[in-house]
Amino acid sequence: MFLVDSHCHLDGLDYQSLHTDVDDVLAKAAARDVKFCLAVSTTLPGYRGMRELVGERPNVVFSCGVHPLNQEEEYDVQELRSLAAQPGVVAMGETGLDYFYTPETKARQQHSFREHIRIGRELNKPVIVHTRDARADTLAILAEEKVTDCGGVLHCFTEDRETAGKLLDMGFYISFSGIITFRNAEQLRDAARYIPLDRLLVETDSPYLAPVPHRGKENQPAMTRDVAEYLAVLKGVTLEQLAQQTTQNFATLFHIAPQRLQPA
Ligand SMILES: [Zn+2]
Ligand SMILES: [Zn+2]
Repeated sequence: MFLVDSHCHLDGLDYQSLHTDVDDVLAKAAARDVKFCLAVSTTLPGYRGMRELVGERPNVVFSCGVHPLNQEEEYDVQELRSLAAQPGVVAMGETGLDYFYTPETKARQQHSFREHIRIGRELNKPVIVHTRDARADTLAILAEEKVTDCGGVLHCFTEDRETAGKLLDMGFYISFSGIITFRNAEQLRDAARYIPLDRLLVETDSPYLAPVPHRGKENQPAMTRDVAEYLAVLKGVTLEQLAQQTTQNFATLFHIAPQRLQPA
């Protein structure tokens, strides 16, 4: 079996007491059949640091972007463009809108979101979108900036069925994190039942929000397995089927050669 963690922050894990290094994290993941990761950056210096931390590996690819929560200072769009063009970068992001934590940077978030989509279209790299308390603006900007040209994923999905439908209409993929396993996530489970299997991805968003039964612990790529197991039951398919389909979806969306996503 081959599972992909489509969204993790490998630079945010606890290398002091939980893991010795990135090899250790990836070995723990592989032991649970999570054999490939997309390492997501949230600032440009963070992107550079991530590349240094992870190095060149056959089983890790990268995104480059500035998170909506990191918009208090301006960044150089030219630098974003040139870093995003580097080999190994398969996506723009994470980008998007978060009006829950930082409504005061709304205008800058929107501008940055648009820039990420424009560069994504130029480079033919899909966008990884984060949205919180900003549903209408997120959908409007995706449509206005013609995101269908490069495609993308709404990561750590916490919206409803109707929003999922609008994203699917734009050709989007939808990624579920450990939140789907939480007791109070009924609306989310309803959306997950509705989203076709060929548009689903799984992720941890580690180090945040560990799935049941690991709540309270630090999340890590290995826990993609728990999300996948839960989602398989919800979709009425076997874990193997869910793994096969979500891995294929990941390859399609991020233009990754299928040979890289096969059991060694
Ligand atoms: Zn996010
Ligand atoms: Zn994230």
